[in-house]
Amino acid sequence: MQEIQYKTFSLKTHKKNWHLKSPNVCQFELTFKCGLHCKHCYTDCYNRLGSTRDELGTKEVKFILDKIHNAGVIWLCFTGGDPLTRKDFLEIYAYAKNKGFIVTVFTNAYSMTEGIADYLKKSPPFVIEITLNAVTQGLYEKISQVKGSFEKAMAGIKLITQRRLPIKIKTQVIKDNFAELGRIREFVEKLGLNFRPSVFLQARLDGNLMPSSLRISAQEVLSLNGKKGAIKDDCGLLSPALASQPANNLFQCAIGGGDGVHIDPYGNLFPCICIREPKINVLKENVEQARNKILTWVREKTFTINSKCKTCSIRNNCSSCPGKALLETGSLERPVEWFCELAKADHLYKCQ
Ligand code: SF4
Ligand code: SF4
Ligand code: SF4
Repeated sequence: MQEIQYKTFSLKTHKKNWHLKSPNVCQFELTFKCGLHCKHCYTDCYNRLGSTRDELGTKEVKFILDKIHNAGVIWLCFTGGDPLTRKDFLEIYAYAKNKGFIVTVFTNAYSMTEGIADYLKKSPPFVIEITLNAVTQGLYEKISQVKGSFEKAMAGIKLITQRRLPIKIKTQVIKDNFAELGRIREFVEKLGLNFRPSVFLQARLDGNLMPSSLRISAQEVLSLNGKKGAIKDDCGLLSPALASQPANNLFQCAIGGGDGVHIDPYGNLFPCICIREPKINVLKENVEQARNKILTWVREKTFTINSKCKTCSIRNNCSSCPGKALLETGSLERPVEWFCELAKADHLYKCQ
């Protein structure tokens, strides 16, 4: 059999599916449950029994995995909440791997156990992406708001690194941990990994603005990335399919590219992590049809108010977007002032 490099395979598959208008990637929120209650978490409003008890059962998750597989999805990311908090996580994971998905797992490592780690060693994921926001107990638990969580999360990371599983560590930068970033970097680099800070926060899914209040200043963001200027939010990158969108179109980001699908813990397909309506339940509906309806909604959205974003000359370099705006302002069209300040500071900085 001819071997090809992963990069070549990835590019070829993405191009093929763009051509076929099939999705490549699925972000599947297996649960909103999480052992932590991070101050900045945008899903924590649903990390309670009232919300999690109606989440999909094992059979239903498998049924949806069959459907997205048939629809063409290859890259599957289990996210949450923390997917490891599900009692049936390994059963779901094994099912996905057996179907041939390339599986990524997002976790905080708090709920990692020897049993899970040993299984992952036998059948490794593409990567485990761990969020680590502090390396000292006091700060970790100030952010996670759970006593005893530091020791458990560090033990979870150890279970993963001891087995040499593929990992990435990412850090959510907030006001609280800004002074500890050097120590986090040191910890991550000692593991032979790249330090990956993200400064982007969105309000909670119920509109609570607590996460937004924890953002660092624009100048602090610029200081983090040195001469390269501000970091652009990944999900705000222009998709190939949208690169030539008219300025009046609301969405200029990857959302409308048709490359990925998002599924929530109840089986709903929805536009993106910040935009949960319209939603279509794929337990009942065909995935392709659901996705097409969502994409049509996205592509037809135009500005209806005189938003300053509509004619903004630096819009392509700004990480404000309809999703973050919706959560923060209640409107898809309004600018989010923090991102506005950041884009302007970055622009000035680059023009100096
Ligand atoms: S670890 Fe992630 S999902 Fe869990 S509370 Fe923190 S930010 Fe939310
Ligand atoms: S609307 Fe915002 S949050 Fe949603 S995909 Fe686009 S950039 Fe990301
Ligand atoms: S938020 Fe500000 S910088 Fe960003 S597109 Fe809107 S007006 Fe431009």
